[in-house]
Amino acid sequence: MSRYPERVDVAIVGSGPAGATYARILSETAPELRIAMFEVGPTVSNPPGAHVKNIEDLEERSAAQRRSEGRSEAAAKLNSPVALAQGKRQSRPGTYLLPDDDFSVDGGDGMPVAAMSSNVGGMSAHWTGACPRPGESERISFLDATGELDELLGEAERLLGVTTDAFEGAPFSQLIRDRLAPVVDEGREPTTRVQRMPLAVRRRDNGRLVWSGSDVVLGDVTRENPNFELFDESLVTRTVIGDDGAAAGVEVRDLSEAGAGQLSVVAARVVVVAADALRTPQVLWASGVRPDALGRYLNDQSQVVFAARITGIEAPDGSTTAAKDKAAGAISETSGVSWVPYTDAKPFHGQIMQLDASPVPVAVDDAVIPGSIVGLGMFCAKELQRDDRVLFTDGHLDSYGMPAVRIHYTATDRDRAVMDAAEAELRTLGDAVGEPLDERVIRLPFGASLHYQGTTRMGETDDGESVCSPTSEVWGVPGLYVAGNGVIPTSTACNPTLTGVALAVKGARDVAAKLTVAPAAAAQATQH
Ligand code: FAD
Repeated sequence: MSRYPERVDVAIVGSGPAGATYARILSETAPELRIAMFEVGPTVSNPPGAHVKNIEDLEERSAAQRRSEGRSEAAAKLNSPVALAQGKRQSRPGTYLLPDDDFSVDGGDGMPVAAMSSNVGGMSAHWTGACPRPGESERISFLDATGELDELLGEAERLLGVTTDAFEGAPFSQLIRDRLAPVVDEGREPTTRVQRMPLAVRRRDNGRLVWSGSDVVLGDVTRENPNFELFDESLVTRTVIGDDGAAAGVEVRDLSEAGAGQLSVVAARVVVVAADALRTPQVLWASGVRPDALGRYLNDQSQVVFAARITGIEAPDGSTTAAKDKAAGAISETSGVSWVPYTDAKPFHGQIMQLDASPVPVAVDDAVIPGSIVGLGMFCAKELQRDDRVLFTDGHLDSYGMPAVRIHYTATDRDRAVMDAAEAELRTLGDAVGEPLDERVIRLPFGASLHYQGTTRMGETDDGESVCSPTSEVWGVPGLYVAGNGVIPTSTACNPTLTGVALAVKGARDVAAKLTVAPAAAAQATQH
């Protein structure tokens, strides 16, 4: 017997922050609606969707990361993105790569380290939590024209639990900003000057940091909603489209041990596909929803990184940390994150993270003052191209039996010029902070940012270049919504999750409005 309900009001595919946003907004505004959320991966943390960094036991944490890595063979993982520059195709803990044949098809640069996570919470169980707002041309002009965008971003900050003071006590954070300001701030508006990075992290009263994952987006209101159910280990193989061309439900394969691969159909009035920017197009394609714009305008933020050591400081309590004793690349309780916002004049976004250990090798007897090593990273905005895309081929399947995600992707001359400019900027910032640990600025392989966008992009009108409307409903398929970073139509350099969640808030409000009838309207309807 199937463990799934026969019928719900809203079926949500994917349990990352985008899917969780629909569940949360509907639980808050329309709790009478029956909601089922399907997630292909297992539950790896408690509450479901929680960030694995909140798991104190390191073995338990590694096990949770491994269980998020899909059905691919267990492969070596890289804690520091810098290690990617050594030329190995490896992924970060909790994520896994596309197979060798699929990351670069039909020539071009490809996206060698395009990655995914398959677990309750999706990538938000593994992310860094940087949540900057988009600026200048990163913003979506037609949502600014209606004055909505900032309100939606504010709501997204509420759902993700964004703060700017979690690292308040971090030694040297302010010092870094004081050293960067003279080389960054001149000629910039106050909003684009160097500042603290907004982060989806909070500090508990006992001092421990808690990283937001989908559990925070769902919140108690969703977990306590008797009309909400989350089904893990449940692969949505397609959206069912009714004879009238509207979404009518989902087909789900039960991957749990008890479910033994059984296939069921769950009827739904609305289907929300929030399966990440690579797999949302996959589900649509498998459902026969194949508008020409599907999968196109794929954009990743190319990343250049550098490391420096703050000079002229002493350890606050006289303590130092032997480099060899620390996991390279970890941000700890004593570290902070600063932000150099994107501007159109400098179309990249800087994330400056204090680390407790060096991301590049330092002498083993080199004692490191915690927080004194600074990783400087720039995310570069990509020139949008119609032919940069995810694509599918009949009969070529992935390890779940879904149409395999394949990528065609090419950097333009402008993209390379922006990377050159970002590289020069990093050297300036590194010199301002202290002394570089290594003279080289490192360019990471494409796909390293994990910030894939554009594949189910939103448009103001159905002009053939977008997949969905400003409310995220797929053009021409009533009741089918798409969610996540794939919906973002602009080229951005800022970390995209906040914007993806903001767009999901708007979509979820639209679903609530369509599926609920206000008492006055209902009374009026019965009088006719
Ligand atoms: P996801 O979180 O990827 O969730 C999608 C879910 O859908 C997955 O759980 C997947 O298993 C499920 N799914 C897919 N197909 C199906 C199917 N057919 N049936 C059922 N379920 C399915 N972003 C930032 O903005 N700031 C950062 O600082 C940042 N740092 C990051 C650091 C790391 C190490 C990683 C891994 C990611 C980082 N990101 C960051 C990216 C961020 O995590 C993602 O932008 C965000 O999680 C996207 O949310 P989403 O809900 O769209 O997709």
